[in-house]
Amino acid sequence: MTVADAARVADAASGLTGVPVSPGRVVGVVVTMPAPVPEPDSARLPEDADVELSVTQVLAAVTAVQEDLTARSARAEGTAAEVLAVTAAMAADPALARDAVGRVQEGRTAPARAVWEAGSDAASRLEAVGGLLGERARDVRDVRDRIVAALLGLPVPGVPDPGSPFVLVADDLAPADTAQLDPERVLAVVTRGGGPTSHTAILARALGIPAVVAVDGALDLRDGETVLVDGAAGTVGRDPSAAAVAAVASGRRERRTFDGAGRTADGRRVELLANVASGEDARAAAAAGAEGVGLFRTEFCFLGRAVEPGVDEQVEAYRAVLAAFGGRKVVVRTLDAGADKPLPFVTAESEPNPALGVRGLRTSRRHPEVLDRQLDAIARAAAAEDADVWVMAPMIATPDEADAFVELCATHGLDRAGVMIEVPSAALGARWALARATFASIGTNDLTQYTMAADREVSDLARLATAWQPAVLALVGAACSGAALNDRPIGVCGEAAADPVLAPVLVGLGVTSLSMTPVALADVAAVLAATSSELCEELAFLALQQPTAEAARAAVRARLPVLDELGL
Ligand code: PEP
Ligand code: MG
Repeated sequence: MTVADAARVADAASGLTGVPVSPGRVVGVVVTMPAPVPEPDSARLPEDADVELSVTQVLAAVTAVQEDLTARSARAEGTAAEVLAVTAAMAADPALARDAVGRVQEGRTAPARAVWEAGSDAASRLEAVGGLLGERARDVRDVRDRIVAALLGLPVPGVPDPGSPFVLVADDLAPADTAQLDPERVLAVVTRGGGPTSHTAILARALGIPAVVAVDGALDLRDGETVLVDGAAGTVGRDPSAAAVAAVASGRRERRTFDGAGRTADGRRVELLANVASGEDARAAAAAGAEGVGLFRTEFCFLGRAVEPGVDEQVEAYRAVLAAFGGRKVVVRTLDAGADKPLPFVTAESEPNPALGVRGLRTSRRHPEVLDRQLDAIARAAAAEDADVWVMAPMIATPDEADAFVELCATHGLDRAGVMIEVPSAALGARWALARATFASIGTNDLTQYTMAADREVSDLARLATAWQPAVLALVGAACSGAALNDRPIGVCGEAAADPVLAPVLVGLGVTSLSMTPVALADVAAVLAATSSELCEELAFLALQQPTAEAARAAVRARLPVLDELGL
């Protein structure tokens, strides 16, 4: 046992455990996310209250919040800076202050309540308009909460800014909070809620921030206490020993880079590709060395849109991605609408069980013309750029669905047509689905949710919802056997591909490419480069023999000492 191992074991014993979602080991001081701002009660100002003093308090709180947001935006970078600048602009909107002041003066409403009502009404009006304006409602509520907190003397809501790097501990993080995570300030994220494929996990991984989710007892951690977070092992060590802290410090490394060609130690090629959702993502992925795009989530270009985007607009969005990968492979997925990604122009308004409902390719039963127009747009984008365009459909369940999709693609001149394997029936029936489809890509996020009957959005089920479950790995193996029978390439594009411990197992099961968030490429490449294909196969066999996800992960880790050497 190495010193690092010994320290890890000792510290795990004195700490908490959860589900590992983003690797990396750090030591830092806990800062907890403040509780949400409570709705102030609807008290009126007393008869003898000084109304003008209350008005001044409202205006002073609005100004203080606006100045605080502007200062935070100036300190932040990238998306976080943009989000904060937009929120600062909203705080500066005179309509909100005017409405709140009117409520104080005319209705004798107490200041905090007046701001709450003015902000809530403004947000509801935006929601009623819908579309892009509707999405701003969340920002208006954020501004409202900040002003109310200032008036009531409560901590500023949202991601804290203590002035030096810290470990963020939260019950769970809302999407708006995760957009403010700055890797320069947030050393690690620990949440009580969340799951391996929740937005917190996906974003933390994309930002390279170590993260452990579904940690029972996370909320017992106290502000100011020192913890050792191990985002690969899923542990949060309290009051770590000096030896453990030294082991983390000595293992700290410069960010690795990827040379653009994935392979095992004995030279077996494993294409390492990127998951993208826009032209901007694609350019970043190309800069990170991705060999191509293994999953272009086209629905992300149009989320929340009530009206189907026109073919010209689609061509433009797709070309932006293809242009970043001239001469290289780009796998475009047709719209995966439904469940957690509603697109009102194709998805039903309400279904009793949306994850099992009309989502993905199934929406084309009701709206065949939408799929037809999308394939038209993809074909036009492909003709205008020189990327090697492959197309695949989400949520294939039967071979005849696969065949129909391949046929439809052919009518648009798209001859590289494949299937996503996300449903157990597709994994077990891969030999039939791949008789005509030219490739497959395994969506382990959904394959896990459907195998374990565990909704990927429900944090209480996080321990079930991991691709380390031996039953999920067995289905990956079955899908690979079906692909091999037809001599077809088969990749993984779910979050499992970005787990540097799981990647060699997937290769051992027969996967020929891995597609992931670009920041994970270098770590996955480094582990594969140090692992022979024979060892990958042994690891796959070992994982399949285990009774539980935890046992599978532990058994594989124990056979891969290179993970410690690489600091993973
Ligand atoms: C998956 O299910 O693994 C996948 C890649 O698709 P999405 O996460 O977009 O549902
Ligand atoms: Mg999916």
